[in-house]
Amino acid sequence: MIKVVVFDLDDTLYNEKDFVFGAFKEVAIYLSKKYGISANILYEDMLSILHKEGRGKIFNIICDNYNINEDIKALVQVYRNSKPKLNLYEDSIEILNKLRCKYKLGLITDGLAYVQWNKIKILDLEKHFDNIIVTDELGREYWKPHIMPFQNMADKFKVSPKECIYIGDNPSKDFFGAKKIGYKTIRIIRQEGDHIKARLDKNYEADYDISSLDELIPIIQDI
Ligand SMILES: [Mg+2]
Repeated sequence: MIKVVVFDLDDTLYNEKDFVFGAFKEVAIYLSKKYGISANILYEDMLSILHKEGRGKIFNIICDNYNINEDIKALVQVYRNSKPKLNLYEDSIEILNKLRCKYKLGLITDGLAYVQWNKIKILDLEKHFDNIIVTDELGREYWKPHIMPFQNMADKFKVSPKECIYIGDNPSKDFFGAKKIGYKTIRIIRQEGDHIKARLDKNYEADYDISSLDELIPIIQDI
C-alpha cells in the first residue's frame, strides 16, 4: 500500500518553459537598460536562438550579434536569480489537494539549489508538501538518479521505499534510482516538455505512463 506520494518539480508540476522564457525576459531587460537596445527585440531574438540552437550558447550569440562586450557569467546570474511569475498546472493543484488528506507528500528536485528554491517559493509549494528535498543540497553527486534522495524521503516518513511512489517526466533520471530501491514510478507525458519524446531502456522507464495527473489516484489505489 502506498503511503507517500513524491513528485518531481520541473515539467511535472508546472511548465518549465515558463521559467526559462521568464528568465530570458529578465536578461533582455537587463541588457536593454545597459545598452539601450529594445528589450522586446532582444527577447524575441533569444527565443529564436533557443529554437534553432538550444539553451547552451544563447547569451554568447546575442552578445556577438549586437556587438556587446558583456560578461556572460553576469547574464547567467541574472537568468538564475530571475523570479518570473509561475503557475502550477491545473491538475497539479487539484491532485495535491486531493492527496493531502490520505498520503504524505514529498518533492524531490534536481538543479542548482538556489534556483530550485526560487521556483519553490514562487509556486508557493511549501504549503503543499510535508518534505522537500533539493538534491543539490546533498551534493552534486546525489542528484537523481542517485538513490540517496529517494531513500532519505522514505526514511523521513519511516516507511519502506516500497510504500512510496515517484511521479516525474524525465526517464533519463527520474525512475532508475527510485525503482532500484523499490519505489513504484509514474511518468507523466504532457503536451509540452523537453523529454516527452524520449523512450529509453526499460530500467529507465516508469512502471506506468500517464498524460494527466487526474489519472493518478486509481493507479495509486491499485498498487
Ligand atoms: Mg522534471
